[in-house]
Order: sequence, then C-alpha cells, then structure tokens
Amino acid sequence: MSRDFLFGGTRAMTETKACRGCGAQILWLQMPSGKMMPVDAKPKKVIIMKEHVGHGETRVLPELVNGYTPHWASCPKAAEFKK
Ligand SMILES: [Zn+2]
Repeated sequence: MSRDFLFGGTRAMTETKACRGCGAQILWLQMPSGKMMPVDAKPKKVIIMKEHVGHGETRVLPELVNGYTPHWASCPKAAEFKK
C-alpha cells in the first residue's frame, strides 16, 4: 500500500524531520483544516470503522489500513506541541 493511497495524491509532506523535543523521526502532515500535525514517521497497521453502502443499507465494517500516530501521543516532550 503506497503513501499515495493514504493521501489521495494531495500535497502531504513526506519529508521526515527530527522532533525538536525528543529527536525521533516525525512527519508533518497537513490536516483538512490546514493545520499541521506532527506524526510518528513510521506508519502502523490500524483498524478503522468504515461505512459500506449497498443493497439499500449502510453497514459499518472494520477495515485494516496503514495509519499514522500523532507524535504528541508518544513524545516524552509532548507538552511542547500543545501551544
Ligand atoms: Zn518528540
């Protein structure tokens, strides 16, 4: 699964940088709101709940995808991101 799949070919930043708090490799992703969010550079397998519409009904089913963890969830210096 490529990153293009994840981001739909939009201008996501895929350049890794070292976190200024802990030195870990992170990515800055632009959210739909325009805000930049730091995430851990290495994607993880995560399960999302996704709506599937068909046969006149909508069902919510789990789907396995590559996902990024917000870096402030794992960074020991997370307080620096909360500004
Ligand atoms: Zn960090």
